[in-house]
Amino acid sequence: MRLIQAVRGMNDILPREISWWQRVEATAREILEDFGYREIRTPLVEKLELFARSIGESTDIVEKEMYAFPDRKGELLGLRPEATASIVRAFIQHNLHADPLVNKFYAIGPMFRHERPQKGRYRQFHQIDAEAFGIDDPMLDAEVMYMLHLFLQRLGMEGVVLHINSLGCTECRPAYRGLLQSFLADHAEALCPDCQRRRHTNPLRVFDCKVDRCQSVLQEAPVLLQSVCSACSAHFDRVQNCLQGLKTAFLVNPRMVRGLDYYMRTTFEVITDQLGAQNAVGGGGRYNGLVKDLGGPDIPGIGFAIGMERLILLLQQGSGISSVSPHVFVAALGEASRRRAFLLVQELRKEGVAADMEYEGRSLKSQMRRADKLAVSHVVILGEDELNRGEVQVRDMISKTQEVHALESVVQAMVKFHGKRHPCPVG
Ligand code: AMP
Repeated sequence: MRLIQAVRGMNDILPREISWWQRVEATAREILEDFGYREIRTPLVEKLELFARSIGESTDIVEKEMYAFPDRKGELLGLRPEATASIVRAFIQHNLHADPLVNKFYAIGPMFRHERPQKGRYRQFHQIDAEAFGIDDPMLDAEVMYMLHLFLQRLGMEGVVLHINSLGCTECRPAYRGLLQSFLADHAEALCPDCQRRRHTNPLRVFDCKVDRCQSVLQEAPVLLQSVCSACSAHFDRVQNCLQGLKTAFLVNPRMVRGLDYYMRTTFEVITDQLGAQNAVGGGGRYNGLVKDLGGPDIPGIGFAIGMERLILLLQQGSGISSVSPHVFVAALGEASRRRAFLLVQELRKEGVAADMEYEGRSLKSQMRRADKLAVSHVVILGEDELNRGEVQVRDMISKTQEVHALESVVQAMVKFHGKRHPCPVG
């Protein structure tokens, strides 16, 4: 019989990798909440028009990568390719701007883009997304990047570089667009067919092109950063000063344009050299006109998204270990001990300590092998003699030392060591 497999580019996240995901998510929640962000969960499916209007009709995402389909009534829908558009929609729809206390949001979840799958690039992937509304001050731009930097630092991530750029505003970008268009017209014959088209529809997008010959033409192209107006230039200077004040290293990259049309002024990306072609771990920027363009009030916004798959690939490459879970294994010998061990395991779990045992009455050696495979941090050993004396042996699997404990107090000792994760609300 033909086996049904997962859709290409859409991956299962298996139990053996899940602790990485949980750690990344927990760290993200911790930091985001400390900076005043609150979680929002929006649907995976939206009206297609939302993405076309916000991300831009002539971006790669909307032109080539959307999962778009009519529903049974013929309404055109799309799987979300990113989170900003949906969060802005929810922000407007629920009048969230009326509550000045809640203007920072985060979301964690799957996104969908029909790209060619390869290492670090998938068709369903996950993002951690943060969006802040209502503040135009360059201090916030720097704070957002600082928060991203702190997050990566807390995860122990090394070797990533923060690239920043300014994309100007509606005042200065049109003049630059004209400049770039005439440069591209002069070099038209050297451009790929996609860029031939882009130079008319959305010339800035040529900077996203991956074709070598386009990239070499662009080496000579005028860059937007040189043409930004004095207000944008002052904003960008302040962002850089603030980042320096926060001791957050960055690199000004005037050729970074980001693949979405809603950005203006500050844009940024976190780049790695350890993932081959998929070198962006996260990115974001300011989108002051977007809330208004989608029918809301004229409120500024800034945000970013981090790709969780790429982040986890990097963390795994960096550490070379699979994470050790704080876990207690209870090994028992003899029927009476097994019955007592069964109770002990449930007591530990009730107190919020992850615990396990072996139910088949195997030898101590085989139980220890199992504990090793589970990568537990402690094994509680309960033999017939120990049971009679009201004692257990506690083996620390990391330091490889062993000591005797009173059976009565071993649960408390393990709680003290591992911390109480889920205090039980009832007796
Ligand atoms: P973007 O919204 O395109 O700026 O993407 C933000 C981040 O999401 C990127 O820096 C990547 O880490 C991640 N990302 C984007 N597209 C994909 C994909 N197809 N597969 C895996 N991660 C992705």
